[in-house]
Amino acid sequence: MPNIAVFIEQRGGRFKKVAWQMLSEAKRITGAAGGEVWAVCLGADPSAEAARYGADKVFTAADDAFTDYNSELWGAALANFCTATKPDLLLLGSTAMGKDLGPTVAAKLDCACISDAVGLTFADGWTVRRPIFAGKCYIDVEPQTPLAVVGIRPNAFVLAENPGAGTAETFDAGVAGLDPGAKVTRSEASAGGKVELTEAEIIVSGGRGIKGPENYQLIEKLADALGAAAGASRAIVDAGWVEYSHQVGQTGKTVAPNLYIACGISGAIQHLAGMSSSKCIVAVNKDANAPIFKVADYGVVADLFQVLPALTEEVIRIRS
Ligand SMILES: Cc1cc2nc3c(=O)[nH]c(=O)nc-3n(C[C@H](O)[C@H](O)[C@H](O)COP(=O)(O)OP(=O)(O)OC[C@H]3O[C@@H](n4cnc5c(N)ncnc54)[C@H](O)[C@@H]3O)c2cc1C
Repeated sequence: MPNIAVFIEQRGGRFKKVAWQMLSEAKRITGAAGGEVWAVCLGADPSAEAARYGADKVFTAADDAFTDYNSELWGAALANFCTATKPDLLLLGSTAMGKDLGPTVAAKLDCACISDAVGLTFADGWTVRRPIFAGKCYIDVEPQTPLAVVGIRPNAFVLAENPGAGTAETFDAGVAGLDPGAKVTRSEASAGGKVELTEAEIIVSGGRGIKGPENYQLIEKLADALGAAAGASRAIVDAGWVEYSHQVGQTGKTVAPNLYIACGISGAIQHLAGMSSSKCIVAVNKDANAPIFKVADYGVVADLFQVLPALTEEVIRIRS
């Protein structure tokens, strides 16, 4: 019966959506295989939400060391937690923090570390699925150590409310007196205060149909009006029109917002791989036969240069 520990990432008391997705999946697995789901959080208490998404126990450690992220201190704390509680699996989001923290914990515990996973199954042992060769194919990996640390791609798992007991417990992170070799002195958000793609509830994405980098502002204006994040197809990222951080798809970010508006995007399979779990998909494309319409809930067969300004104006009017 596997016990799965899920790291609940927080910065400034704000929790990452991927944490609830991992809890949902862990609960689904333990529902069938037995075992417990443990939420573990450093520097904040996620009890209410963690219980909602399936945590049987919620472990928190409070310490001034957890005000800012520090891989040495946070890595030591999570390694100490795993040594004390002995989970079979430790899941972390494949976020900037998780990609740093997961290998740190695995190195301290000398255990298997698998990054960027998109699938998990349990039958006598774990099988972890992850993309390889820039997303051209998938590989199934079976960790061989009693504990495995696994990084999960944001939005790879579906969010599902399935309440657990959520018993709150504190633990001694064992970092008092540790003097890290490096300290964080300042941190700056690269998105300039904009909504992060993998966390966004609404995304407006642009593709080669926008014709040139100067027109990406049409995407950004609609996104701003909706309080949404701005995404992109790989075609316009490769062309250098927008930064890679905006790319949605197999080799970009996997997203699952409530609303995804694809503008001038044909709907190649590699793009769909990153956004087809969106709850509602709207496509604007002048070609009625574009594959994006096969997955769209609402399709607008029209020129985006006419649709986007009008739509943006209407959204601003309604919202004001
Ligand atoms: C290994 C691999 C990984 C990949 N990973 C990704 C990935 O992560 N993400 C990704 O997006 N792609 C990825 N691709 C690329 C993918 O195959 C497509 O080439 C890419 O998604 C196409 O981008 P696009 O839809 O913007 O461009 P196009 O396919 O050129 O489509 C442009 C669309 O705009 C429409 N259009 C043109 N003008 C207008 C207008 N005025 N108004 C409205 N519509 C208009 C056209 O009808 C057309 O449908 C990958 C490819 C490979 C081989």
